[in-house]
Amino acid sequence: MNTLEGKVAIVTGGASGIGRATALVFAREGAKVVVADIDGPGAEATAGQIATEVGGTPAVAVRADVSDPEDCRRIVQTAVDTFGGLHVLFNNAGIIRRTTALDLDVDEWDRVMAVNVRSVFLMCKYAIPAMTEGGSVVNSGSGWGLKGGGNAISYCASKAAVVNMTRALAIDHARAGVRVNSVNPGDTDTPMLRDEARQLGEDWAAFQSDAADRPMGRSGTPDEIAQAVLFLASDAASYITGSALVVDGGGLA
Ligand code: NAD
Repeated sequence: MNTLEGKVAIVTGGASGIGRATALVFAREGAKVVVADIDGPGAEATAGQIATEVGGTPAVAVRADVSDPEDCRRIVQTAVDTFGGLHVLFNNAGIIRRTTALDLDVDEWDRVMAVNVRSVFLMCKYAIPAMTEGGSVVNSGSGWGLKGGGNAISYCASKAAVVNMTRALAIDHARAGVRVNSVNPGDTDTPMLRDEARQLGEDWAAFQSDAADRPMGRSGTPDEIAQAVLFLASDAASYITGSALVVDGGGLA
């Protein structure tokens, strides 16, 4: 249980769902973790849970909006100032709007792009120079970054951008010893997925019964995604960069 011993990690969107689960997994594996989220109390709660479970002071919370350049710079600076360096970045924060192009406001399109896409550019812009010993960046894509999906035009566009931006980043920074991969979850039982059911006006049971997307008959758990992120973040994935790892119980297949 010391896969990330001696490493410093940033998890954006660490207050909830996949981000919270990953921050906990990283800490259990020995990493010091910066938990960043626009939900300040939620980020504090994750850091507190890490302190309780893992002990010591292995986590610090930062309230930040990842679409904002100054906030992204501050997240990275917190890692360096608090823990003395940076090795792992999980760009996980994301939002979804479940509408077609016809019903989506222009402002909402811009917000989804800013939170899901610009954030990855900004965090990499500031984090990669801080990875002076090399590092691993994992970006949160989605099954819907690799295929289309209904009623999610801005989200599908944003996640396809993340998948291909990941490949471009991987090429640019390979010689600096920084690997960049995307993890692409299928439906995962988090507050976001439950909110999607609400946005579509479907009750949770009906939403869950879409068998085509769930060959295993269930959604994933946040911890199942976190374990895949841990693999990509760790030295076990030392020759993997530019890849898109699908973690969806066979949904894309
Ligand atoms: P979630 O809503 O449970 O958590 C997302 C977190 O991101 C929240 O804590 C939220 O406060 C934070 N956040 C939102 N906007 C932010 C901003 N501007 N700045 C900083 N933090 C912000 O969602 P989740 O399901 O855990 O999703 C995590 C990632 O996984 C997202 O990128 C999502 O698109 C992706 N994903 C999720 C699923 C799924 O089924 N849950 C499937 C595929 C991909």
